[in-house]
Amino acid sequence: MLQMLVTLLALVLASPPATCTYDTWTWSVVARRVVEHQHVSKPYAQVTEDEKASDWNVTGCTTCREDQERVAVSGLPPVLVCRHFAPRIREALEAALQAGARIETLVGYRVGRSGGPVVDGKRTRYGWHAFGEALDINSKSNGLYGNCKRNTAVPRSVAELGPCRLRVGGAWRPQAAPAQSLTADGAMVSAFRRVLGWRWGGERADSVKDLMHLSPDGY
Ligand SMILES: [Zn+2]
Repeated sequence: MLQMLVTLLALVLASPPATCTYDTWTWSVVARRVVEHQHVSKPYAQVTEDEKASDWNVTGCTTCREDQERVAVSGLPPVLVCRHFAPRIREALEAALQAGARIETLVGYRVGRSGGPVVDGKRTRYGWHAFGEALDINSKSNGLYGNCKRNTAVPRSVAELGPCRLRVGGAWRPQAAPAQSLTADGAMVSAFRRVLGWRWGGERADSVKDLMHLSPDGY
């Protein structure tokens, strides 16, 4: 009898949710703003390939709100991330705080077509945030920079950003605000590397350095 109950419980816990619900938008590179706001609500069985993360086979992460879990760390507003990663994201954030990092703002799950090729002036693909597989930390002290030279080294100081230009958020301040700033050897990036194997947006090899950003591959 107990065996049967345990089996039943395991089945219920492993079964997918009944519905998939989320709000989305598309980034217009022409208008430089979000367009085409859309509310999606449908049976979970109708989730498309487009709505599944590239590592879905392993993680089960999708754009559905139902696949996200709240992570609440020491007095911060809870952040939503993909359920598969939630316990380790909690562990990494707590380890970073213990090691002296300070968290002022945190953004995780955020659905929108912000990547991929541009078609008709609009982005076409979901990035890691849309699947709850990325975090933006302290955007006011860790901006997103563009116009960088490709394949430049991971920056260790503002001077090493060279020709990069600030596009989103506030200027990076690793010397002036070390506890809030993400750096390659700092508490936050180190904790995510150790606990999840995630990479920092400062490690990107293209013309962008997204210094607030952590994800499976840094993009
Ligand atoms: Zn990000």
